[in-house]
Amino acid sequence: MRANLALAQSRAGSAKTWAVVKANAYGHGLHYAVQGFAASDGLALIEPEGAVRLRDMGWRKPVLLLEGCFDHTDAALLCEYQLDTVVHCNEQIRLLETVKAGGSHKASINVHLKMNSGMNRLGFKPDAFRAAWARLAALDIVGTITAVTHFANADDEHNARMSLTEQVRRFASATVGLAGPRSVSNSAAGLLHPELAFDWVRPGIMLYGGTPGPRTASEFGLLPAMTLRSRLIATQEIGAGDAVGYGSQFVADRAMRIGVVACGYADGYPRHAGIGTPVLVDGVRTRLLGRVSMDLMTVDLTPVPGAAIGSEVTLWGSGLPIDEVAHAAGTIGYELMCALAPRVAVRPAPDQATTA
Ligand SMILES: *Cc1c(COP(=O)(O)O)cnc(C)c1O
Repeated sequence: MRANLALAQSRAGSAKTWAVVKANAYGHGLHYAVQGFAASDGLALIEPEGAVRLRDMGWRKPVLLLEGCFDHTDAALLCEYQLDTVVHCNEQIRLLETVKAGGSHKASINVHLKMNSGMNRLGFKPDAFRAAWARLAALDIVGTITAVTHFANADDEHNARMSLTEQVRRFASATVGLAGPRSVSNSAAGLLHPELAFDWVRPGIMLYGGTPGPRTASEFGLLPAMTLRSRLIATQEIGAGDAVGYGSQFVADRAMRIGVVACGYADGYPRHAGIGTPVLVDGVRTRLLGRVSMDLMTVDLTPVPGAAIGSEVTLWGSGLPIDEVAHAAGTIGYELMCALAPRVAVRPAPDQATTA
């Protein structure tokens, strides 16, 4: 995580970095994020309760709520915990108008005003952006206003429906002359368009060693932050015509040995991963067979004749890029990381065991 952050920062020039730690740091744990991203300029996430946890863990640098406040309870946290907030709609401006300046709170709230520059999820349309800016600037409680937007296709420059260039054009023209910092880049933009770093970048997936697009993380020099490992807890000898698992989906065409791995969809391994999805057994590449069940999955031991009960199995991570597993399973690395289930024991890698 430290190395990936350093790479993101080196590509961002003089821009500051929000390390994005939403969804429990993409499944890695906020506790590790605080350590791994200690050199970032701030941590950004969605969950207000996560932001409070970051403060409770001693994080003193900025914290940003990427979707802003959902209600009055969240708005009250902004001053109490010194949180920066996104504002993406008029209802959220109204929430800020109810936050009392003064009292026990001398501090102001830094606002990240979001523009909908073409993705059509969150934000003010370009022609409504200046009015929102003026309304925020009039509030005593508001400190710095940063103009922000988010790209639909930063990893797919030639997308015919909404290009990166068009989103940048809309954002630039609607913010002409507005004072204050700007922030637009996610990982894809950070990796492919360093010229868009502006004042703050917001990398997420790249910090965990995943990539948003078709290119691999190692091509960019990123390291896997998470390795999902288990062991063989049984082996079976099957003959030609024998079927494996629920639905008897895999049928052997010859005698073979298969391994039973203690990992299933209740651990976050995708049930829709099909026959052939890559897996490492004792470091040797082999393939998934049959249907993934709640607690178990079965693998082909043909390439690993020495494998036995206790053999180490790598589902993704070191030696097996998460993006490759994700693509084989018809999803993206983000989803695999985020879906890691609470019952999976999280352990620091051996070389970090002493500092964790
Ligand atoms: C999640 C998120 C990011 C990070 O995106 P990645 O593709 O993981 O780099 C950046 N900005 C916002 C607003 C986000 O919600």
